[in-house]
Amino acid sequence: MTRESDPALSATDPEIAGLIGAEVRRQADTVKLIPSENYVSRAVLEATGTVLTNKYSEGYPGRRYYEGQQVIDQIETIAVERAKALFGVDHANVQPYSGSPANLAVYLAFLKPGEKVLGMALPMGGHLTHGWSVSATGTWFSSVRYGVEQETGRVDMDKVREIALAERPRLIFCGGTAVPRIIDFPAFASIAREVDAVLVADIAHIAGLIAGGAHPSPVGHADVISTTTHKTLRGPRGAMLMCDAAHAKAIDKAVFPGLQGGPHNHTTAAIAVALKEAAAPEFRAYAAAIVANAKALAEGLSSRGFDLVSGGTDNHLVLIDLTSKDIAGKPAAKALDRAGLETNYNTVPFDTRKPFDPSGIRIGTPAVTSRGMGPAEMDQIAGWFDEVVGAAKTGDEDTIERVRKEVLELTSAFPAPGVCPGVGRTPRLSGRCR
Ligand SMILES: *Cc1c(COP(=O)(O)O)cnc(C)c1O
Repeated sequence: MTRESDPALSATDPEIAGLIGAEVRRQADTVKLIPSENYVSRAVLEATGTVLTNKYSEGYPGRRYYEGQQVIDQIETIAVERAKALFGVDHANVQPYSGSPANLAVYLAFLKPGEKVLGMALPMGGHLTHGWSVSATGTWFSSVRYGVEQETGRVDMDKVREIALAERPRLIFCGGTAVPRIIDFPAFASIAREVDAVLVADIAHIAGLIAGGAHPSPVGHADVISTTTHKTLRGPRGAMLMCDAAHAKAIDKAVFPGLQGGPHNHTTAAIAVALKEAAAPEFRAYAAAIVANAKALAEGLSSRGFDLVSGGTDNHLVLIDLTSKDIAGKPAAKALDRAGLETNYNTVPFDTRKPFDPSGIRIGTPAVTSRGMGPAEMDQIAGWFDEVVGAAKTGDEDTIERVRKEVLELTSAFPAPGVCPGVGRTPRLSGRCR
């Protein structure tokens, strides 16, 4: 559903229909700065909402455990071929339900319980599934961690090598969820070779930048590439695992039957559509614009006195340390949300506060770039950010209310792809739909 009201859903379940309509309106009227989110195209949404959800397809194309795969086999094969072509890999598995199960499949493929994984620590920007203690990956496997340097906010590859040589992990993860800098895939690969570990590049956040040529590719360096499809890649919620021919069997066996049952065929179709969009020339411009916007946003915040982890950004993401502004991440994020600026509070490296009440805010530009915003709008957003964080400290709700109105003017000038408020009714603020 892409609009405020769809007839069958409204008739059957007006309560859920009404709530989805409210979410359409909310997405239209707010500025989404969460770096892991995006707006998929109407084409991707349409592929998601199809009868493909009715079909069971355990197995792989040509090797299924259910009949009636004449169409599904073709769809999955197209998705796989498009992933291989876009990223330049030998093999792609498009069945993982999401990024976390994709990563768990990698453990299953290469590790026995209790064996050792090296990943970036969660508070340093890593992901839960890279061996963090509260995750199954940190419970069932032995995990060791690397981080960033306090001075630079960047990973010191010599230190990663020292840890790897001392700990001899079987599996090494590079990539993360709050990493504003380029990931040095060749350096990780040389360490992994030295200690005879399997290297996984988790490109969940940056897959779209890599596909669009705005970040170096891990292909030729990592043994396995894990990615979600719903972040910068701008597809449906899902994931892919990619690798060379030598690891293909192990990966496929781990996903099915190792970890999952039937693939979500409606998602597979939508992934295929998103991969086609990502192979188009416009997507290269999109990826470059995401980075240009992030740099403009970082500059706008720095010039207003905000401390940025690592001093800026190379990609789509900016991590702000609010310590010097004398406000914590959570109250700032809540005030920003009241103003229509959607962010998430986040730990910063060496955070002295607790994870549920940390010092930072994480923002990013994939979604605002999908709406067609550019550097001028980024400076405008940085200005609002500054005003609202200041207002949150003094309890100045009038300023927050004023910014909320200004944000509405911006969102109505830049309609979000696939988000169509007011279709079939009188268009309100954001009448245009694309
Ligand atoms: C988002 C993310 C994941 C997990 O994806 P889910 O779909 O939320 O399970 C894994 N790794 C990294 C680096 C991520 O950013």
